[in-house]
Amino acid sequence: MDCIFCKIVDGKIPSKKIIEDERAIAIADIQPQAKKHFLVIPKKHVASLADAFSDDGAGRELVSDLFSLADRLAKQEGLLPGGFRSVINTHADSGQTVFHLHLHVLGGERLKGTFG
Ligand code: AMP
Ligand code: ZN
Repeated sequence: MDCIFCKIVDGKIPSKKIIEDERAIAIADIQPQAKKHFLVIPKKHVASLADAFSDDGAGRELVSDLFSLADRLAKQEGLLPGGFRSVINTHADSGQTVFHLHLHVLGGERLKGTFG
């Protein structure tokens, strides 16, 4: 499958890998939107959050895996206790551009509001 994040998971495309566990990896985003901007990517290909919950019922576990690694990442990279923002874009109206589920983790500075 021609998926950029599958290629990153497989090491076929280089990335700045920060941390990894059995089910996910975290890399630095190439176009950071904050001082620190990481992506937590499941090793298994799932196109979006919506697909995670419709494919095979594995959505709950998958989402929990992503936040579990995000928490370790945030502690390791000094985003805690200050804080961080986590975002999952789902489908076109959200601006999702890479159709392999990923969790954005942003921080390292006082973030401006996004929702109003
Ligand atoms: P989204 O709009 O939620 O689909 O976000 C996709 C994110 O992936 C964007 O923030 C991009 O900057 C990031 N991105 C795309 N290609 C790469 C890559 N090769 N390495 C790291 N981040 C990437
Ligand atoms: Zn993929």
